[in-house]
This record gives sequence, C-alpha cells and structure tokens, in this order.
Amino acid sequence: MVEPVKSIVTPIRLEYDYTPGRATSRFLRGIAQHRILGQECPSCLKVYVPARGSCPRCAVPTEREVDVQDSGTVVTFSIVRVPSENIHFELPYACASILLDGAGIPFFHVLQGLAPEEVRMGMRVKARWVPTEKLGPTIASIECFVPSGEPDAALETYGEHT
Ligand SMILES: [Zn+2]
Repeated sequence: MVEPVKSIVTPIRLEYDYTPGRATSRFLRGIAQHRILGQECPSCLKVYVPARGSCPRCAVPTEREVDVQDSGTVVTFSIVRVPSENIHFELPYACASILLDGAGIPFFHVLQGLAPEEVRMGMRVKARWVPTEKLGPTIASIECFVPSGEPDAALETYGEHT
C-alpha cells in the first residue's frame, strides 16, 4: 500500500523593501549616530520611541525630538525557545519590553548576558551597541540589552506599562 502524501516541504523566499517614513527615518539616522531619538507629544507630553510622527491618544503631530537614554527598565518579557532562521542568539533567550529612561512607551529588544530564569520585571538594563565603525541606520546597531547592575526599579516607575 502506498502512503498518501500529507505534506510537502518547498523552499520559499519573500523579499520586500521597508519604507520607514519621515519620523522613523529620523529615528534610524539617530541610531546611526549612537542616539535614541523619541518625539514628545505637545499635548500629553508622552515620549514615543521610536517616533511615529503623531500621538495616537491626542491625534496631534509629534515634532519635538528628544534624546532618551540607552538604559531602561524591563517592563515585561518572554522567553524564546523556538529557533528562527534570522535570529542568531542561542536558545533560549529573552525578548523584553524595555522602558528606556526618558521614554513614555516601552521599546522591544533582545536581552543577553544572563540566564532566562534570571530575567525579571523591574530589572535595569542598558544597550550594547555595535562598534562605532559599524553603526548604521538600523535597529541592529543595538546588538541587545544587558543587565546594568543597578538595583531593580520600583513597580511604581514602570507599572503602568505592564
Ligand atoms: Zn498625546
């Protein structure tokens, strides 16, 4: 008896170009200069990182740029245990929402430099950048975030973002 074919494996490739727009372009150019740029809403004063060009709460343009720090607090996280062709980190590893110092919304990136079971909400972390000569207008200019060694932040300082 011949087994029925239940599935097949076919190679597939998808190529596309991402057009970041004005606000995100400025953010990415800032990254190439070792800066993390946000935009502050003139109404609610929330600082968006990366900048989106407008505040979705207030429906107004956000044009004032502000530098935020490359350090922050882990707001929430997940442990990645599934391999992905485009991810070069050793499994398992943590992805985290990080509230950068000076920002009003969390920023998503990979955590390294600690075991996944050590990751916790409130943990203080800092960006690990690529060497200066490799900086470019890409979020990959920040390799990852690592523990800063500072004491954990109090829940009141980040709790609204969890
Ligand atoms: Zn606003």
